[in-house]
Amino acid sequence: MRVVFLGPPGAGKGTQAARIAGLRGVPHLSTGEMLRRAVRERTPVGLQAKGHMDRGALVPDDVVDRLVAERLAQSDAGRGFLLDGYPRNPAQARALEQVLARRQGALDRVVYVHVDDDTLVERIAGRRGCPKCGTVFHLAARPPRKAGLCDDCGTALVQRADDAETVVRDRLKVYHDNTAALVRYYEERGLLGRVDGNLPIDEVTHAVEAVLGSAA
Ligand code: AMP
Repeated sequence: MRVVFLGPPGAGKGTQAARIAGLRGVPHLSTGEMLRRAVRERTPVGLQAKGHMDRGALVPDDVVDRLVAERLAQSDAGRGFLLDGYPRNPAQARALEQVLARRQGALDRVVYVHVDDDTLVERIAGRRGCPKCGTVFHLAARPPRKAGLCDDCGTALVQRADDAETVVRDRLKVYHDNTAALVRYYEERGLLGRVDGNLPIDEVTHAVEAVLGSAA
């Protein structure tokens, strides 16, 4: 199963990709997570990425393309993968196509999770994450059992710096400027399946499963 999850920040693609990856036994590859780890660990990629991420801008294509190509070369991705947050524009989509042509084979499906902007801003403002294990909570929709602490490992939850409202508006603009073109790109190739991300979380998972049914 070679699948891309597409959609604006806050659409719930990370949550859905993590669920489906668990159900289907394939790795969930989030470029946002990979880049945040690189920043924390101060790797060369992290040092290049940090300024762009803090502003809510995209990290340069060549940096992200290389990161993804290296990750897809690892053996666990041979069985399939769910990409979340990549590609972000048609140039990255073409880079991905080239990497896959050399390795796993073409994409099976692209899941487009769409949500309106006001809902996205509201969702992102309430988002809190565990800096240790990466689990994501939401103050209203998915509160941790103990306020402020991760259910899985007990670490104090934090808000991502780029989840602050002004940066979120910039990220949404970047999304509309770049990523929306990808919807057309994959639609033209007959790969796109749309899912309404405004629905409750379990219903979204059902809808995603329905889109993936033919790709399983
Ligand atoms: P995300 O967690 O997917 O919202 O990504 C957080 C930030 O990481 C984005 O605002 C970008 O700065 C950077 N990023 C993640 N994926 C990509 C990508 N495919 N291309 C460029 N930048 C990315």
